[in-house]
Amino acid sequence: MSRVVDTHRHVFGADPAGVWSAPGRVNLIGEHTDYNDGLVLPIALPHRTSAACSPRDDDLLRVWSVQTDELVEVPADAVGPGSPAGWAAYVAGVLWALREAGHAVGGLDVTVDSEVPVGAGLSSSAALECAVGAAASDLFGLGLLADDEARARLAAACVRAENEVAMAMTGGMDQSAALLCRPDHALLLDCRSGDTEHVPFDLSGPASGAGYVLLVTDTRAAHALNDGQYAERRAAAEQAASELGVPSLRDVDPAALDDALARLSDDVLRRRARHVVTEIDRVRSAVAALRADDLPEVGRLFDASHASLRDDYEVSCAELDVSVEAARTAGALGARMTGGGFGGSSIALVPADGVEEARRGIREAFAQRSWTEPRSFVVTAGGSAHRDS
Ligand code: ADP
Ligand code: MG
Repeated sequence: MSRVVDTHRHVFGADPAGVWSAPGRVNLIGEHTDYNDGLVLPIALPHRTSAACSPRDDDLLRVWSVQTDELVEVPADAVGPGSPAGWAAYVAGVLWALREAGHAVGGLDVTVDSEVPVGAGLSSSAALECAVGAAASDLFGLGLLADDEARARLAAACVRAENEVAMAMTGGMDQSAALLCRPDHALLLDCRSGDTEHVPFDLSGPASGAGYVLLVTDTRAAHALNDGQYAERRAAAEQAASELGVPSLRDVDPAALDDALARLSDDVLRRRARHVVTEIDRVRSAVAALRADDLPEVGRLFDASHASLRDDYEVSCAELDVSVEAARTAGALGARMTGGGFGGSSIALVPADGVEEARRGIREAFAQRSWTEPRSFVVTAGGSAHRDS
């Protein structure tokens, strides 16, 4: 945190009024379910993005990032779709969205510094938006951190920033996780109703023996989840729902899945729909298993989710598959890709005393294939956005 303050002093020549931070996230299960009105189950990472901020008398935004070593200046009236271009859109977009929502928001000097790996599918973008959103809420007296209902409104503004200024297609999971997660809990988010529930996420409980940990592996692969692939999956899911005469695949009863699939017009649609319906059901099962401290069942659900994403939804890639296989070979209870796919990160439920073995196994599997060395780290469930100082 002192680095962000020191940098702020250096760049802007004054102490910041305060420092705010927000976490990255990893989704435990429930992938490609958000745009199907489904369920997702993220935890907040211990890794956070910090924003040192000072209010200004005018409506100018000046923002520096330690990660890009770059200063960007944007007057409020220059913010809109695609403007500013590049990373500053995530910051300018939040102030824009808050103004659009009717809040009186002035200019800011902002310095950001992040522990969240950027572009690894761990949501550095929402961490950045929500750290800045938390700062704006406090500095301009908006009260948007007061309770979960207010935080949900701040999350909505951050989603608008990402969709309408940074022009990135995302649902609301990342921002909800960054603003609503609680330490040692996963967040069950119903993407249809917006309802949330906090589910205990404790891998060291008595029924788990020596205990387990969640190992995240950033594969460092990025096979452009180009909007073509994402749009194709969305369109297929919508078409399947329409052929079945339901508003979304959320409305297909998992118990009657075979009947529903038989009514679809082709095999690709059948596989896409089967992923979405079974994945939403797996989120429910994972919540029950976590509540029952049944970690072997959580592991089985991770494995089933990965197979479904790889074979039915076809959004995995060689690096994700290899990281998952290597974790299992090294003793993981289960493992899966997480995030949109085509690169990014995987997660594995690993015995606490087998972490080094798993990390080594994954590293060696990548080295054998001459791939960039992956980064694996143990994570616990952290807390949401707040003021640090
Ligand atoms: P993810 O959210 O999974 O990390 P995204 O592609 O959604 O991946 O967001 C990454 C983008 O967010 C970066 O390319 C950059 O534009 C912006 N970003 C995130 N964190 C920072 C940061 N600390 N400094 C500058 N830009 C950042
Ligand atoms: Mg993102």
